Amino acid sequence: MFDLIVKGGTLPDGSVADIGIRGDRIAAVGRLEAEAGRVIDATGDLVSPPFVDPHFHMDATLSYGTPRVNASGTLLEGIGLWGELKEIATVEDMVSRALDYCDWAASMGLLAIRSHVDTCDDRLLGVQALLEVREKVRDYIDLQLVAFPQDGLYRDPTARANTLRALDMGVDVVGGIPHFERTMQDGAESLRDLCEIAAERGLRVDIHCDETDDPLSRHIETLAYQTQRLGLQGRVAGSHLTSMHSMDNYYVSKLLPLIAEAGVAAIPNPLINITLQGRHDTFPKRRGLTRVKEMQAQGITVGWGQDCVLDPWYSLGTADMLDVAFMGLHVAQMTHPAEMKRCFDMVTQENAKIMGLQGYGLGVGDVASLVVLDAGNPVEALRLRPDRLCVVAKGRVIVERSRNDARMALPGRPGTVRRRHLPG
Ligand SMILES: [Zn+2]
Repeated sequence: MFDLIVKGGTLPDGSVADIGIRGDRIAAVGRLEAEAGRVIDATGDLVSPPFVDPHFHMDATLSYGTPRVNASGTLLEGIGLWGELKEIATVEDMVSRALDYCDWAASMGLLAIRSHVDTCDDRLLGVQALLEVREKVRDYIDLQLVAFPQDGLYRDPTARANTLRALDMGVDVVGGIPHFERTMQDGAESLRDLCEIAAERGLRVDIHCDETDDPLSRHIETLAYQTQRLGLQGRVAGSHLTSMHSMDNYYVSKLLPLIAEAGVAAIPNPLINITLQGRHDTFPKRRGLTRVKEMQAQGITVGWGQDCVLDPWYSLGTADMLDVAFMGLHVAQMTHPAEMKRCFDMVTQENAKIMGLQGYGLGVGDVASLVVLDAGNPVEALRLRPDRLCVVAKGRVIVERSRNDARMALPGRPGTVRRRHLPG
């Protein structure tokens, strides 16, 4: 007897299986004839572990247009605009926007999110707000928080003290922004400092690293060095790494093995990188996406992050990690079938690995969280970015929707159309 069986779905590896759930765990996978409190028919549909976003800013989300929009479209105007918004934001306002966003995420099967939270604020309003949200959504979303000194650990006079306070209050991960410090030396020093803080406290590290078009922004080298020096392998991520797009190829041939040796993961954010970077270029205009395939070829874990939805840096966004992977696939030219499948894995299992999620997957004993998609396999899911027919979070069905085929009235043609097509 199971509480719930998800019947007949196609798993991301192409196998077809029923998934039996008891309590908040997956109890069996295979052909199941047992009774269940409830059966969900997923025949012909893709059943995946939930989507995971390893890079987001939940304190800023859904604030687009307040107090004004980003006219230049640049990262730096976005940071300035966020400074204006921080002056007028309240804890209630941030909690309300974040909870609205979590509803969107849940509806899209996005059930684990790593959100940076700005610690450059003596009142730490964002930290208070997101700690409250982390508790409120705990039953359906794993929200991991990163203490992020947005205005620079050293450039902002109280950032270091406030970042430590945020960690004391229960923020999970150590963040930083070395390319925004006053000098390259300060940036490198901030990485030593932050990695030592993480090592002392047994925490993970996620750095906004080299989010610039400047090919000489090489903080990732220091991040890899500090990671291996302090034995933090497997617990550190470099987010963005956009400068690597513009770096000298010879230098990169030395750099990538060092990143691999240090076990540092990379989190490009393709929707944001393609819009914010290259703004100072005329033509040819750089894409500003880091070297994804080249890092993967070296054995470096790479995940796709979303970064922003309707905030000072990005005027769009849907909480759909398939949109993120779709953009990444195009900009990184990952069009081979194996590469497209990899893009799906990046927004699911590889992101889960970067966040260190326990019990993630569709195996017996894993946490019973999954999503049923109106698609036949992962590549079709990327092509269609389809409706989520059902979302199960920790054993509970939290989202359902009926299939939404278009009805047609064309003589001699089918009455409905769904745009499904798996290559034979
Ligand atoms: Zn970010």
